[in-house]
Amino acid sequence: MVKNIHWLGHDTFRITGEKVVYTDPFRITKADTADIIIITHAHYDHCSPEDVKKLQGPDTIIVAPADCAAKLQGEIKSVRPGDRLNVSGVQIEVVPAYNTNKQFHIKDMNWVGYIFTISGERIYLAGDTDYIPEMKTFRADIALLPVSGTYVMTAHEAAQAALDINPKIAIPMHYGSIVGSIDDAMKFAEKLKGKIKVEILPQQ
Ligand SMILES: [Zn+2]
Repeated sequence: MVKNIHWLGHDTFRITGEKVVYTDPFRITKADTADIIIITHAHYDHCSPEDVKKLQGPDTIIVAPADCAAKLQGEIKSVRPGDRLNVSGVQIEVVPAYNTNKQFHIKDMNWVGYIFTISGERIYLAGDTDYIPEMKTFRADIALLPVSGTYVMTAHEAAQAALDINPKIAIPMHYGSIVGSIDDAMKFAEKLKGKIKVEILPQQ
């Protein structure tokens, strides 16, 4: 089991190492302060100003695409696909995230995923994306991939993505709250059996 990655539902993870990193904070219930908050896109279930506020301390740095950044206050780094930055010692690569067979996240929005390094491990947070050709170029030790279908990849497509990225561990996300269920996560794990280690994290 990965010990430093905690799933709080949907695309919200609390990841600890040199820093406390939160991803796409949504429906936050426990009091905590993030060092870094990374946000993939402007949809309400990913870019939630009230949830960001709950985790913000005086030194919290937020990384987000411009349209989400405009909704937030504090120390914010506005990013687009292709950017690379170092935030408080954490290396962050900004990668594309978009739909190919639906229109919820069009490429022109310049919404993103991230590959960031915590405790020496490269963690890929896919964001709301379909299975895109760029994934063949991504290198990651741990891949956090959406599996619900509808707005993002299906479990089957996510499994194909995982095979391209070839991480040590793949973790399904984006199910159980807005869309998708544990069945999608199980399907994803089933398709990767014997190929890539999948960890279905308990929701905390
Ligand atoms: Zn979205």
